[in-house]
Amino acid sequence: MASYDYDLFVIGGGSGGVRSARLAAGLGKKVAIAEEYRFGGTCVIRGCVPKKLFVYASQFHEHFEDAAGYGWTVGESRFDWTALVAAKDKEIARLEGLYRRGLENAGAELLDTRAELVDAHTIRLVKTDTTVTAERIIIATGGTANPHAALPGHELCITSNEAFHLTELPKSILIAGGGYIAVEFANIFHGLGVETTLIYRGQEILSRFDHDMRQGLHKAMEAKGIRILLTDIIEEVTQSPAGGLTARTKTGATIVADQVMLALGRDPYTKGLGLEKAGVAVDERGAVIVDAYSRTNVPHIFALGDVTDRVQLTPVAIHEAMCFIETEYRGNPTSPDHDLIATAVFSQPEIGTVGLSEEEAAQRFDEIEVYRAEFRPMKATLSGRAEKMIMKLVVNGADRKVLGAHILGHDAGEMAQLLGVSLKAGVTKDDFDRTMAVHPTAAEELVTMYKPSYRVKGGQRIDG
Ligand SMILES: Cc1cc2nc3c(=O)[nH]c(=O)nc-3n(C[C@H](O)[C@H](O)[C@H](O)COP(=O)(O)OP(=O)(O)OC[C@H]3O[C@@H](n4cnc5c(N)ncnc54)[C@H](O)[C@@H]3O)c2cc1C
Repeated sequence: MASYDYDLFVIGGGSGGVRSARLAAGLGKKVAIAEEYRFGGTCVIRGCVPKKLFVYASQFHEHFEDAAGYGWTVGESRFDWTALVAAKDKEIARLEGLYRRGLENAGAELLDTRAELVDAHTIRLVKTDTTVTAERIIIATGGTANPHAALPGHELCITSNEAFHLTELPKSILIAGGGYIAVEFANIFHGLGVETTLIYRGQEILSRFDHDMRQGLHKAMEAKGIRILLTDIIEEVTQSPAGGLTARTKTGATIVADQVMLALGRDPYTKGLGLEKAGVAVDERGAVIVDAYSRTNVPHIFALGDVTDRVQLTPVAIHEAMCFIETEYRGNPTSPDHDLIATAVFSQPEIGTVGLSEEEAAQRFDEIEVYRAEFRPMKATLSGRAEKMIMKLVVNGADRKVLGAHILGHDAGEMAQLLGVSLKAGVTKDDFDRTMAVHPTAAEELVTMYKPSYRVKGGQRIDG
């Protein structure tokens, strides 16, 4: 039998890679994990975590304004971008340390280097230009922001990566994209006092979400002062003579801004990885093709997380890693379950969602019931903030199963997590109806919408 340097070699120290390496090492396997940038990966270093810290920072000016309605006088406030970036960097460094220690304590070998495949069992460590061999290999190299290389002037633009490290806060920013990263950053920058414009080629932001969430958030963002341009794209970005950048759009608009940020999706990061040398197949986007157990066409090479372009979310990468461990090292073949993934958009107001949108449900089921409430949250009464919350349940008329739950408003992400448990357990609308409300909360609305707002039958809306 062939002998290898390692039982498992993991390429990429992000959400999926770290979890698989740590668990495999904990089971006594000889494991090495290579990371070319910083352990923790996109989520910890330049994704979910720093983004959420920025979201918190950007909410304070509304908190200060709202305080007056509750009797508080808040003195003059001032925001210091450099202080925020420094505090964020300190926290990220702490988290990176925790990730490293977790791996070390489990007995994995950490390699601070880029790694590339040389053949199906051999990996080159770029820093030392040495090779090692492994019985099994996991590709967990994640994704990269689409640089939109076809756009003239794209090199003048930033992506989310740079947004976390700008030396100064821009006075104005133009953000291209309509996905959750574009929307979240538009809210972050606006909240920090930056004049913000969002430009998106589609008819409405957040294309795969329920239409009430999309329209409700659009309205709320515009009411705050964020400019949203739809059905338009940037065609060219140039340096303005007076400083800053000028973007020319397809419809002929000219937008001048200090920064232009491209948030146009994320591509699987497989370039230069040597996949062809190992015989690993990729699709037309460069994503590693895997079966239901995250196995590539080369039986001992696996891929998980964003590099497979299934669902680009941290908990999904972690879940896929845990399924790999069950399947390969615990003798319990487990395929990742991608159904009913609860998720949030950390916009302001937030979106929390799980399951089918009204449009998807109406296409798949003969008759659906829609329960919808739109109301002013209690906190906004004394603060006087013009703010609406929307809650929505989409129910299958045939068996009363709740197919989708969607919330726009404060703490929607927190609520979505718990709704995710209920929907996963197959909850029916009758279960919601016999659940006692928690009063006074916004979430109680979810269990007190007794009558459907309308039905959709054969694609037609039926009111009353
Ligand atoms: C701005 C932003 C906000 C996000 N917000 C959220 C959120 O709120 N919630 C959520 O669930 N998800 C969010 N995501 C998505 C989330 O970050 C990813 O889904 C998750 O990190 C995927 O994990 P992964 O293990 O597949 O890859 P990654 O975490 O990207 O890790 C891949 C790692 O591999 C390394 N690497 C790549 N190639 C090599 C190589 N050849 N050799 C060595 N190392 C290599 C990279 O440096 C990287 O550290 C966000 C992403 C971004 C960009």
